[in-house]
This record gives sequence, C-alpha cells and structure tokens, in this order.
Amino acid sequence: MAVERTLVLCKPDAVRRGLCGEIVSRFEQRGFQIRGARLLKVSKALGQQHYAEHKARPFFGELVSFISSGPVLALALEGESAISVVRTMMGATNPADSAPGTIRGDLALELAENVIHGSDSKASAKRELALFFPDGLV
Ligand code: UDP
Ligand code: MG
Repeated sequence: MAVERTLVLCKPDAVRRGLCGEIVSRFEQRGFQIRGARLLKVSKALGQQHYAEHKARPFFGELVSFISSGPVLALALEGESAISVVRTMMGATNPADSAPGTIRGDLALELAENVIHGSDSKASAKRELALFFPDGLV
C-alpha cells in the first residue's frame, strides 16, 4: 500500500461527448487528489511516444491518429494505490467486456473510442506523467 500518482487521459471522444465532468467527478468522489490538469491537443509525436509500447501492433497508426484527433484532458491523480485503483475504475480495455459501474462499462461501447487512458504500472505512470506534465506537478 502506498500513495501513488498516475496519468489519466480523457480521450478525444470523451471531450467531444462532454464526459470529462462525469469522469473527473468519479475520481474526486473516490478520494483522489488532482495534482495536474491540462487540456491539450496531442501532437502526432507525443501520441507516438505515449503509445510507444504498441508501435509494432497493427492498430498503432489508427491509435495515434485518434489520440491526436482533438483535445484531451490530461489529469495527474494522486491517492492510495492510484495506479491499480484507476485501472479498476476504468474497466476492461474493450468496452464490450467492461463491467457496468466502470467508466468504460457505463460510458463507452467501442474499443477504439473507449473514453479513457490510465497508466498501467509504476514505470508507465512515471514515464507518462513526465510526457504530459513536463513542468512537474502541483
Ligand atoms: N486498442 C485498439 N485495438 C486493439 C487494442 C487496443 O484500438 O486491438 C486501443 C484501445 O483504445 C486501447 C488502446 O489501444 O485503450 C491502448 O491499448 P492497451 O492494451 O494499452 O489498453 P488500455 O491500457 O487502454 O486498457
Ligand atoms: Mg495501456
């Protein structure tokens, strides 16, 4: 058990659909502190860096195009076991399999447009927070 920081992205579909308030609200109600918040248009270069682990996958091009297709709301969240708790709250990657009550299970239907990103490990969280919050956190 440890207090951790993790990166959440409300993806372009979430911003377009007006779901950021709902998503932020769930994390605040759960007890997370917001240590950083930034609305930005992700460049192709940043999208490629962020999703570097998927570089060899057939969907990489579409993934990078999608994440750079409109503004995202980047959040740095802090709290007990933040990395795994946020992942649990997000639900399974494919919304068709995401449990009701999870963010994807309540708000999404399609794999490519699954409304939210969350870091999947301590190493990912450190790397991704540095990418989206290069000036550090509050
Ligand atoms: N994705 C996709 N096709 C796939 C697998 C994943 O379009 O076959 C997208 C999906 O939007 C997912 C993102 O790629 O959120 C990153 O995939 P990952 O396996 O890291 O899932 P996540 O960590 O987002 O749950
Ligand atoms: Mg992932």
